[in-house]
Amino acid sequence: MRMSQNTSTSQALLDHARSVTPGGVNSPVRAFRAVGGTPRFIREAKGPWLTDVDGNRYVDLICSWGPMILGHADPRVMDAVQQAASRGFSFGTPSENEVALATEIVSRVEPVEQVRLVSSGTEATMSAIRLARGATQRSKIVKFAGCYHGHVDALLAFAGSGLATFALPDSAGVPASSAGETIVLPYNDVDALDAAFAEHGDEVAAVITEASPGNMGVVPPVPGFTKALRDITTKHGALLISDEVMTGFRCSAAGWFGHEGQQGETAPDLFTFGKVMGGGFPAAAFGGRRDLMELLAPDGPVYQAGTLAGNPIATAAGLATLQACTPEVYAHLDRVAHTIADAASSELMKAGVPHQVQWASSMFSIFFTDEAVTNYDGAKKQDIHAFARFFDAMLAQGVHLPPSSFEAWFVSASHDDEAVAHIVEALPTAARAAASTDSA
Ligand code: PLP
Repeated sequence: MRMSQNTSTSQALLDHARSVTPGGVNSPVRAFRAVGGTPRFIREAKGPWLTDVDGNRYVDLICSWGPMILGHADPRVMDAVQQAASRGFSFGTPSENEVALATEIVSRVEPVEQVRLVSSGTEATMSAIRLARGATQRSKIVKFAGCYHGHVDALLAFAGSGLATFALPDSAGVPASSAGETIVLPYNDVDALDAAFAEHGDEVAAVITEASPGNMGVVPPVPGFTKALRDITTKHGALLISDEVMTGFRCSAAGWFGHEGQQGETAPDLFTFGKVMGGGFPAAAFGGRRDLMELLAPDGPVYQAGTLAGNPIATAAGLATLQACTPEVYAHLDRVAHTIADAASSELMKAGVPHQVQWASSMFSIFFTDEAVTNYDGAKKQDIHAFARFFDAMLAQGVHLPPSSFEAWFVSASHDDEAVAHIVEALPTAARAAASTDSA
C-alpha cells in the first residue's frame, strides 16, 4: 500500500534532532506519534504547497494549525514583513503597528473594546484567566473536556466525563493545587453546567470555552449551548471567556462570534485570539470590555507583560493578513472546504468506512465513527487506526493532513483548483486504505 517516497533526509534530521531536542520536535503533535511514520521536515512552502527536505511536495491541509489563512509566503504579507524587518526587529518601546493591529481587532469584534497583544495563544488564555481571577476575586475556573487552551497549568486538566469532577492534572508537573481550581465538564452538556454552578457558583471566576471547539476535532456548540454559558455565568457573577485562538478571523471576519450570529445574546466578557492574527508570526491577544481590561497593569493591579509583545514584524504580518481577508476569501474557504469534505465523504462511503464530517464555518474534520460527535467522549470513540491508514495513504500521495484524528483540517485562500484536484485524486486510495485491515 505504501508508495515509494524518499524520506531519508527527513529521517536523518529526525534522528539527529532526537539527540538535541526531546522527541526531535518542538511541539509534540509534530512527531507523528498518533499516525506513525516519519515526520516530514519542511524546507519551504508556497501557496498551498509544502516541499520537504527530500524534495517531496504536499498539498497542505495543516496551514500551520490555522495561521496560514492566505497560504504560504503570500506576497502581501511578505512585503509587509520585509518592510517592517528593514526598520528593525524589536524595540521594547511602543510602536505604530501595535496600535494598528489592536484597532483592526477592536473594529471587527464588537464586544472587544480593548486588547492586549501577547506572543502566543497560551499566553493569551493564561493572562485572560489571571484577569478574570483578579476582576472577580475568585479562583475557580470551569473548562470543558476536549477543549485545548494552550499549555497553561490550570487549563491542562481534562478529567473524566460525567458530572463536575475536580480535575486530575493531565500533565506531570502540574501541581494538584493548580488543577484543583479547575472544574472540567463535558462539552455541550447544560445539565452538568447547572450542577457545577449549583455547587460552586460563587467560587467560579470564569468559564473558558473554545468558541467552537477544534481541538477534539471539530465539535460545534449545539444550539443554545453558548447562550446557556452566557446566562449561567451572568447569573452567578462569573466571567465568560471565549477562546477564539483557532476560530478568530478564520470562521468569519469577526471569528466564530461573527459567524454564530447570536451576538448580543452571547457576547463573552473576554476573548482570546492567536493564529490568523499573527499571519504565521508569534502574535496573539486577549481583549474584551474596557472596565475589565483597565484592570491590567499599568492602569490596574493585574500584572501582565512581554518582552516581544506587539513585535513590529509579527504585527505587520498580522495586519497584512487580516486586511487581505476579504469576504471573497471567506467564500473561497467555504467552497474549497466543502469540495474537499464532500469528495472525502463520498469516497469513504464507497469504501464502506463509517465517518462523520463536522463543521465550524470552513473548519472541518472527519471523525471515523458512525455517531455524531458532541463531546470529547464521543470523539474518543472514533477508529484512530483507520484514520492513521487514511493519513498515511494521503501523505504518500502528496497530501499533508494534520497527523491526528483529533484535529481540524485547514484550507487557505491559496488552495486553487490544482491543489484541490490533487487532494481529490488521492482520496479513493486513501479511503480504501482506511477500510483495509492490513497494516499500511
Ligand atoms: N487556544 C486554542 C483554541 C488553540 O487551538 C491553541 C493552540 O492550538 C491555543 C489556545 C494555544 O495557542 P499557542 O499554541 O499559540 O500557545
